[in-house]
Amino acid sequence: MSKPTRYVYEFAEGSREMADLLGGKGAGLAEMTRLGLPVPPGFTVTTEACKVYLTTGEEPPELGIEEARALAVLERAMGRTLGAPDDPLLVSVRSGARFSMPGMMETVLDIGLNDASVTGLAKASGQERFAWDSYRRLIQMFGHTVMGVEGDLFEQAVAEHRTQRGTRDDHGLDAGELAHLTDEFKSIIRRETGEDFPQNPVDQLQRAVRAVFESWNGERARLYRHREHIPDDLGTAVNVQAMVFGNLGSDSGTGVAFTRDPSTGARGTYGDYLPDAQGEDVVAGVRDAVPLDELKALDPRSYVELGDHLRTLENHYRDLCDVEFTIERGRLWILQTRVGKRTAAAAFHIAHDLREEQTIDADEALARVDGAALTRLMFPRFETTPADVPLAHGVPASPGAAVGVVVFDSAEAQRRSAAGQDTILVRRETTPDDLPGMIAAQAVLTSRGGKTSHAAVVARGMGRVCVCGAESLTVDPAARRFTTDAGAVVREGDTVSVDGTAGTVHLGALPLTASDVGRALETGASTGSLTEAVLDALAHADSVRRLEVRANADTPEDAARARRLGARGIGLCRTEHMFLGDRRTLVEAMILARDDTGRERALEALLPLQRADFIGILEAMDGLPVTIRLIDPPLHEFLPDRTELAVRLAGATHPDVHDRELLDTVERMHEQNPMLGLRGVRLGLAVPGLMAMQVRAIAEAVVHRLREGGRPRAEIMIPLVGTVEELRLARAEAERVLAEVVAESGEFLDCPVGTMIELPRAALTAGRIAEAADFFSFGTNDLTQTTWGLSRDDAEASFFPLYLDKGIFSVSPFETIDQEGVGRLVEWAVEAGRAVNSRLETGVCGEHGGDPESIHFFHRAGLDYVSCSPFRIPAARLEAGRAALADTATSDSR
Ligand code: PEP
Ligand code: MG
Repeated sequence: MSKPTRYVYEFAEGSREMADLLGGKGAGLAEMTRLGLPVPPGFTVTTEACKVYLTTGEEPPELGIEEARALAVLERAMGRTLGAPDDPLLVSVRSGARFSMPGMMETVLDIGLNDASVTGLAKASGQERFAWDSYRRLIQMFGHTVMGVEGDLFEQAVAEHRTQRGTRDDHGLDAGELAHLTDEFKSIIRRETGEDFPQNPVDQLQRAVRAVFESWNGERARLYRHREHIPDDLGTAVNVQAMVFGNLGSDSGTGVAFTRDPSTGARGTYGDYLPDAQGEDVVAGVRDAVPLDELKALDPRSYVELGDHLRTLENHYRDLCDVEFTIERGRLWILQTRVGKRTAAAAFHIAHDLREEQTIDADEALARVDGAALTRLMFPRFETTPADVPLAHGVPASPGAAVGVVVFDSAEAQRRSAAGQDTILVRRETTPDDLPGMIAAQAVLTSRGGKTSHAAVVARGMGRVCVCGAESLTVDPAARRFTTDAGAVVREGDTVSVDGTAGTVHLGALPLTASDVGRALETGASTGSLTEAVLDALAHADSVRRLEVRANADTPEDAARARRLGARGIGLCRTEHMFLGDRRTLVEAMILARDDTGRERALEALLPLQRADFIGILEAMDGLPVTIRLIDPPLHEFLPDRTELAVRLAGATHPDVHDRELLDTVERMHEQNPMLGLRGVRLGLAVPGLMAMQVRAIAEAVVHRLREGGRPRAEIMIPLVGTVEELRLARAEAERVLAEVVAESGEFLDCPVGTMIELPRAALTAGRIAEAADFFSFGTNDLTQTTWGLSRDDAEASFFPLYLDKGIFSVSPFETIDQEGVGRLVEWAVEAGRAVNSRLETGVCGEHGGDPESIHFFHRAGLDYVSCSPFRIPAARLEAGRAALADTATSDSR
């Protein structure tokens, strides 16, 4: 027979392992109680009880009895009765979910006070004013939180009393005044709800517990959960605990303490203390707290005792802990503990120090840090204050901080940066045309597009700061200005600051702090304790990870940088960027050619240029695999804009014949849905000679490198394949050219040919496709776009915010792999592909390859590598290591 569900646990009955049931706070209180720390006694109502309430609208029937029993134990322990007229026991009722949701749910203090017990409290404490103040606080909190009265009504009443008294804070109100206020509060409640403030203490308690349950679904809490990716169905526990008071005079007080400094990670206790105050006063910032050190002089005994408890907790949790404590007339109480939040730098420092102190081992130290923290440390940061209100918010597409003058086109960015000025390129959206400007600029800002838009992908690849989809901006390149919703106008030449980590834009130049970590990751040399901690964690990740990490890089410079950052090859070299700038006229000539001869001439001119590109990249990645993808985007992206061309022709007195011809071609090639049109492998099969030229350039580059004594390892990748027939044709063409180059050069060439899997059909028929592929590389950007039927260029900036708010998505599927849908296709394709070709190599080169959560999934799916933008490589290495550890931990516990 299964044990009946229990809904209430006394603190002494729980433990830290029970956080799912007791919430983080309840588990911490239980653990401290077991450790013998001075915790005011109490009990926890479980998350299960909350779940029952939230689904049925009623408390489980057993809850009342269990609460009554636990209350009786508490009353015995305290030697007092809840709300008894003489010397009453008072309790606090606080929320406490599995994951910390600070300030997002409700708390009610001083439960147990009523018209009779307020006098008892006055007598027992010897402080009448304190008793009345506690009572009016209870009515105020209860009235608002439990009975739903507008909080402002109470505030107004308090303000009127302050004005009458001529005092600016509540301390100026005496006991009599507070007693009056109490009556007024009670009338407000009666007027607003038609009900009296409940005098029965048990009634107060039960209603407060219910209000905390309900606050799980409050708007604040829901929004917070969506932002923090906390599931909606966990529910909150409720902690009922004997009240202790820090506001009984100068021998009392309240504070917070940390076992190490949570902002730097430095060893040694750290915290704040506020004499003669309750915890709420600290939160409300009523008075300034003093550094914890000052408690040494104020109350040496409590100070020493607190230090002992902090040490006990840190040794027990083997991590930074923080506590909230109260001193009531010289007696120390610990009210809460948890493994404390910390900054990114502190996380690395603390993990490293704890390992050196032999408190934890290297695996555990690695589990304590993460890729997001590492990424935050890698870039220069702005020193912002709350007063720095951003001009606009957008999608944080490529991290870092940049200051520069606004420019509205690529040419201007190039001109100004040649003159030594830092620029910010502002566009509605970017196209391949903007590439030179993106290279020249410090940052790119667009008003449209999401994390996988052109601007985002290219900027990330180059390590440029980028904020995209800042929808509140109206960009007017013709007038050379942009305007904000609030009416601010920013003109070309004005200075702005772009924060690609936060996704914000500020007017003017914000102060910048450089990053030592970024430098150390490239040089491999540590310059201080933080860089040492980071490099140590990475070295351990490298030693345990199974996933290889490659880079998405298209230039020798990016390839070299990626290698310095730890990439073991290139997983995606996009060749289309090599057809821009001066070479564009050659591409144009190829597209416009009327016959084979004209086209061949254009292709012949492109060949040596492509070959030189590949030689540089193969050299930078010598000895490591370089996966070169044949051209992917629709060709008309290389032709001038249709509208611009039409306007030019219409305005010309003697229309240019070339322009006329161009416009005809542009119109002929125009597609309603170019992303689903003539692109990828379709292009290679439709344009004679194009694929052959690219393969020849690759093969000749390999020959060149071999003759120079290098170890080139080029791999040829065919994009957007939907059926094995496409791949067979493309592969046959590639092998024909490779054989030609072998015959001409006499060199032996080993160039695997593989495909991207970026269409659902390709994934579903992976078993067939694997017959013709040496490797699969999952293009999860397109695979997400085509599986969901969502435009990667538009969706994130248009209705995604709504979807996130409504909880349809907890995160954009373009950012973190959708495991159930797109991820399932990946798993299926890997399995089906390997069943046919056991040597099939598998990797991911979509943006998800650099996303921490997705990396853990790809590890579990058994892929061989992830490939990502160079700057994401350190975090990817770290996460691949953490994924391997998490995997071992799960299989050990099976
Ligand atoms: C992809 O689709 O995931 C991919 C890597 O290709 P691209 O982003 O160039 O379309
Ligand atoms: Mg793609």
